[in-house]
Amino acid sequence: MNLKHLGNQKLLSDTLDLSKQESKITAQLLWHIREIEDRKLYFECGYNSIFDYLVKGLKYAHGSAYRRLQAARLLRFVPEVAEKIESGSLNLTTAAFTQNLMMVHEKYEGRLSREQKAQIIEKIENKSSCTVEQVLAKELPQATLQLEQKKKESIKQLTENKTLLTLVVDRETAELLNRAEEILSNACSGKGEVLKRILHEFVARKDPLKQKSVAQSAAATAPAGRQNLKVSIKRIIFQRDQAKCQHRDPKTGNICGSRSYLNIDHIIPVAKGGSNHPDNLRVLCRAHNVLAAEVIFGRDHMARFKMAREE
Ligand SMILES: [Zn+2]
Repeated sequence: MNLKHLGNQKLLSDTLDLSKQESKITAQLLWHIREIEDRKLYFECGYNSIFDYLVKGLKYAHGSAYRRLQAARLLRFVPEVAEKIESGSLNLTTAAFTQNLMMVHEKYEGRLSREQKAQIIEKIENKSSCTVEQVLAKELPQATLQLEQKKKESIKQLTENKTLLTLVVDRETAELLNRAEEILSNACSGKGEVLKRILHEFVARKDPLKQKSVAQSAAATAPAGRQNLKVSIKRIIFQRDQAKCQHRDPKTGNICGSRSYLNIDHIIPVAKGGSNHPDNLRVLCRAHNVLAAEVIFGRDHMARFKMAREE
C-alpha cells in the first residue's frame, strides 16, 4: 500500500476512521469469543481450551489472546464493556487487567455482584493506566496484593545449566521445604538440590511416560468387558499415545495434544458394550473426555449425570 500521494489532513482523517473501525471490530470480536466459549466450540475443533484456540487457531500471540479472552469474559457480567471498548473509553489492556483482578478477588473473597463490577468499570473509564491501577488497588486491595506477589515470581536463565527461580509460597509450603531440607541434609546441599530430589521422585512415581514398560503381550490378553482397567493396560495406552490427548478434529485433523488432566477413554463406552482392549482405548484430556461422552450420551444426559455425582 502506497500512501505517499495522500495529503496530511486526509492521512490523519483516514487513520482516525480506521482506528474507529478497529475498535468496533474488536468489540464484535469479543462478543464472538464469548459465544464460542459459551458453546465450547473449541473442543470440537481440536483445541483443549478457548485460549489454545485463540493462540493456535486464530494465531494470536499469548498476550494478545489473553487480553481478548479476559475482556470477553468481562462482557458476560458487564455487557456495556463492549460499547466502552468501541467508543475508546476503555481499552483491552485495562479491561483484561480488571477482569483478572476481579477473578482473583472472587477466588479469595467471594462473588462480586454485577452492580459492583459495573461500578468499578465506571470508575476506571477514560483513565490512564497508572490511575486505573490506583483505583483498582483501592477497590480490590487483597487481589492487587496477590497479583503483586505473583509478579515477583520469575524464572531467569543464568547459564546453560543454572536457572534463577523466584517463588512466593505460603507458610505451610515454606515449612515443608525446610523440613525436607533437614531430612535430606546428608544427601543434598541447599533448597535447589532438595527440590530436584523431590521432583525426581515425584516424576518417577507419577509420570506415565517414565513408568516401567510392560510387554505388549499383556495388552493382547487384556480382559474384555466391564472390569476396571489394569494399571498395566493404562501404562501401555499412555506410552502408546505419548501421554497426550488424542482428540482429532474431524474437519482440520488437528490433534489436541494436551498433556494435562489426562484420562483413558473407551472409544465405544463400556455401557454400550465396549471392551478394555487397547484398540478401544485412547488418552483424552478431561475436556475432550467430556465432549466424547456428550457426543455419545447427549449433553443433557451428561449434565444430569454430573449434577447427580455432585449431590
Ligand atoms: Zn484434548
